[in-house]
Amino acid sequence: MNNNEIDNASTDLWERAITIYLSTLRNDEERSQADNYFAMITSISVNDNIFTIFVKNKFAAQYLQDKYAEKLKFSLNLAGGSKDSILEFKEDPKSNPVIIQSFTPKPVPENSPAQNFKDQKQATAPFISTLPLEENYTFEEFVQGSSNSWAFAAAKGVANNPGQKSYNPLFIHGGTGLGKTHLMQAIGNELKKKNPSMSICYLTAETFLNEYVNALQQKGMESFREKYRSIDVLLVDDIQFLQKGKQCQEEFFNTFNDLTWKHKQIVMTSDVSPKNLPALEERLISRFIGGMVQEIEAPGYETRLAILQKKAENLTPSIPQSTLEFLAEHIKSHVRAMEGALAKVHVTISINPTQELTQDFLALILKDFIEKEQSLKKLTIREIQECICKKYGVSIGQILSSDRTASLVTPRQLAMYISRKYTTKSLQEIAAEFDKKHATILHGVKAIEKRLDVEGELKAVLGEVLGEFGYSIADKME
Ligand code: ADP
Ligand code: MG
Repeated sequence: MNNNEIDNASTDLWERAITIYLSTLRNDEERSQADNYFAMITSISVNDNIFTIFVKNKFAAQYLQDKYAEKLKFSLNLAGGSKDSILEFKEDPKSNPVIIQSFTPKPVPENSPAQNFKDQKQATAPFISTLPLEENYTFEEFVQGSSNSWAFAAAKGVANNPGQKSYNPLFIHGGTGLGKTHLMQAIGNELKKKNPSMSICYLTAETFLNEYVNALQQKGMESFREKYRSIDVLLVDDIQFLQKGKQCQEEFFNTFNDLTWKHKQIVMTSDVSPKNLPALEERLISRFIGGMVQEIEAPGYETRLAILQKKAENLTPSIPQSTLEFLAEHIKSHVRAMEGALAKVHVTISINPTQELTQDFLALILKDFIEKEQSLKKLTIREIQECICKKYGVSIGQILSSDRTASLVTPRQLAMYISRKYTTKSLQEIAAEFDKKHATILHGVKAIEKRLDVEGELKAVLGEVLGEFGYSIADKME
């Protein structure tokens, strides 16, 4: 912040207000989102009770105004300022012209998002989809469980009311084969069904990147831009691929802003959370987390069985319940592997319908699947904690305590990291076994993740601990 533009007393007041506001936020996610936006503030000027706050770009200014102005006003009052303060967030004319260079500002549509989409119904927009939608990927075919219920609800919310601020963008993340693409396409399928004229575009970030490169080479930038800015719903799968292209990120950022400005819906998926996309620009990440972020986790036994029952529903010859239970019990890591194992069983009994599906027989034909599962995933959290305790010479009680002594924080967080990254245990299970909140586990995992990038010694310890179980660092799940 440029302190020349604001007197010291006002600076103090403002900073106190920010501190108060941040302390009212419930979790790290919210705090870091707010932090990201506050970091875009370039300067402030105060006149009477009017705070004019300059921000790097107009989107951030608009967003700060909508989302934070009222709350910050309240915090300013708590910090000792007038309760009649007025906060005005404005684009800083001196700042960062690059961001908006290729973006032509358009007035915000006055219609509500819902109205905006209703109008679209009458339009004759063609259905454009860079990649076809899989017709089986519907909400009906998706089995809900505690591992995916939030992501499912958010996806439903988008399908019922696309473009609504609280769900826009929707960012779904989770390990491979857990149903991200399925959910995202279910949104597309549902919207297409309800509203055939809506233009929905589903593609992977890799396709976007390739098209962008082609457009650059063939001087087709204009039509590339036009295409992506004329659609109603943009579904971008595997956004982590965007990390490969810096220039393309700029283009995506502009497309993104243009669409959200017009209340068009954007949905993205990724195999990691937005904050774990290190090669993506900060401003993209802060836009991604500006809507709703939901994680899909590995399903528990009940959900796995329900998914298998759903997938086996229409198969002939039918698959016995005991076989489905065997599969649910032994194949845990992801749904795609469960489907593969189910297909294998189905082929086997199609060829030989009289074959008795004993446990031994199943273990034999599914040997490959089961062996893969057994690498790591059977580890219990307690085993991990015990191994770490031995290595660091601390007790389980100390690991489970809230004592923040540095010599305890590292082993505790490392145990959390291994539990999260090298087992299929859900966040709930891990939190329970560590007697901590979800946010604490996520914070611990993130802390270790960062340190592993720079601390060879810590990495070596991780390798040693994993080695004791017969595994290596490369066996990480994501
Ligand atoms: P991801 O995109 O997360 O890697 P996919 O969406 O491709 O995973 O899912 C892999 C397979 O598992 C798909 O065939 C999908 O239909 C199926 N699947 C995943 N989760 C579920 C679920 N909850 N209910 C039904 N099928 C699921
Ligand atoms: Mg996918």
